[in-house]
Amino acid sequence: LGEGRAAEIRALIRDVPDYPHPPVVFRDITPLLADGPALADVIEAFAGLHLPGGGPVLDGEVDVVAGMEARGFLLGAPLATRLGVGFLPLRKAGKLPPPVDRVDYDLEYGSAAIELRTGTLEPGSRVLLIDDVLATGGTARAAAQLVERAGGRVVALAFLLELVGLGGRDMLTGRTVETLLRVG
Ligand code: AMP
Repeated sequence: LGEGRAAEIRALIRDVPDYPHPPVVFRDITPLLADGPALADVIEAFAGLHLPGGGPVLDGEVDVVAGMEARGFLLGAPLATRLGVGFLPLRKAGKLPPPVDRVDYDLEYGSAAIELRTGTLEPGSRVLLIDDVLATGGTARAAAQLVERAGGRVVALAFLLELVGLGGRDMLTGRTVETLLRVG
């Protein structure tokens, strides 16, 4: 995304203070999803990301796109189509019929789990993980662990928006993390 276009796209993400509870500022991408040219530019920007020591993901660098429920589905599936590869949904616990692979992880209050249908990932596949927002990084770290447990290789994690102040990158040390937009 060029600088001017990035600002326009940023303006299509609505900041909702104290949602779902204080002090969270929820970043609502619904207006962006509703804007055809903006959505297309975001998908194109993901497709043009370069991997370290490799070319753009567009050039056959990725075997499958995996997206985190739910907004990672909305960005990940069109990206997979653009790259000509398949899409793998990483789902919240209890949504997929068995058998599943599962990773449990801690949240600020409580815990969560994500699941992947056993056998959907070809061993050794190069996986690009996608989500809308990188916040504390807990979800993304669990997603990467889940893919690796299933035999995949996480070549990069890509996010539309990074909430820099929450330190999500520290949870993903040693991994390639790409973000199209960043806010403090
Ligand atoms: P985290 O595990 O803290 O990095 O949270 C990431 C997941 O929660 C992503 O799937 C995001 O969609 C969602 N999320 C976390 N914080 C926000 C926020 N402030 N606005 C919108 N989504 C968020």
